[in-house]
Amino acid sequence: MDLAALLDRIADDVATDIGRGVVADYIPALARVEPGRFGMAVAEVDGAVHGVGDWERPFSVQSMSKVFTLALTLSRGDGVWARVGREPSGDPFNSLVQLEHEDGIPRNPFINAGALVVTDELARHGDAADALLAFLRQESGRQEITVDPEVAASEAGHADRNRALAYFMASYGNMRHPVPSVLDQYVRQCSIAMSCADVARSALFLARHGLRNDGSRLLGLSAAKRINAVMLTCGTYDAAGEFAYRVGLPGKSGVGGGILAIVPGRCAVCVWSPGLDARGNSVAGVAALDRFTTLTGWSIF
Ligand code: GLN
Repeated sequence: MDLAALLDRIADDVATDIGRGVVADYIPALARVEPGRFGMAVAEVDGAVHGVGDWERPFSVQSMSKVFTLALTLSRGDGVWARVGREPSGDPFNSLVQLEHEDGIPRNPFINAGALVVTDELARHGDAADALLAFLRQESGRQEITVDPEVAASEAGHADRNRALAYFMASYGNMRHPVPSVLDQYVRQCSIAMSCADVARSALFLARHGLRNDGSRLLGLSAAKRINAVMLTCGTYDAAGEFAYRVGLPGKSGVGGGILAIVPGRCAVCVWSPGLDARGNSVAGVAALDRFTTLTGWSIF
């Protein structure tokens, strides 16, 4: 498979989707991004990376960070599963409604409530955002990866919904650390800026059944398989069914316009285009991944 040529073809095929959708503006700094951007990178399990368009341009990873914090938490044991579920929520990523019915236990680790619990769990071992940055720098080989201070400040200034989620869970005894500290770590984790190439390279452990780029083991086979399973069922919020239907891969989106997808045993793919659909997933990103699995036959189904 000539992946470089394939990516060129996909960029052509989705040209009319680029710029469609709405750039997230509930975090004001995210609204500065140019909607016409598009990049896509594929990192193969042997380490080769191919890309097209803006594939080396950093953007705000937002909720794609939740895959990595979950992996780092699970690498230290699976206690987090007593505090967060593994079912699709069917609700928007920042919804409060289900938490009261289910006693402060979020449905899954990829909606905001669940990710706050994961960050709180990882914080037992030190600052969660710092641990995440160290991991991403190591896996991508790029020491320059860092938090975008403008996005972090903007997000921290507009965090009332996440603050409400965290305090609500605290009222059920499902927060170990003080809410302001967990929120600070969560905001910095979401505000990390990375390129498609960086994200794809950093996620290869999920394509390699738990093995990091240096050959050491981050996760056992089961844990890696389970993260992919939860990405498939919950990674694109209340559009996870549609994403499985169109793309057929474990995926995780972020409101910065990025989507990470895993082809187990083969590669990690990251696509970026800032225009979002009504559920917060990149319009051109989903279209590009749809073309990717159609042209390669590499869906998991
Ligand atoms: N930082 C964003 C938030 O907490 C992440 C949401 C997302 O990417 N879906 O609202």
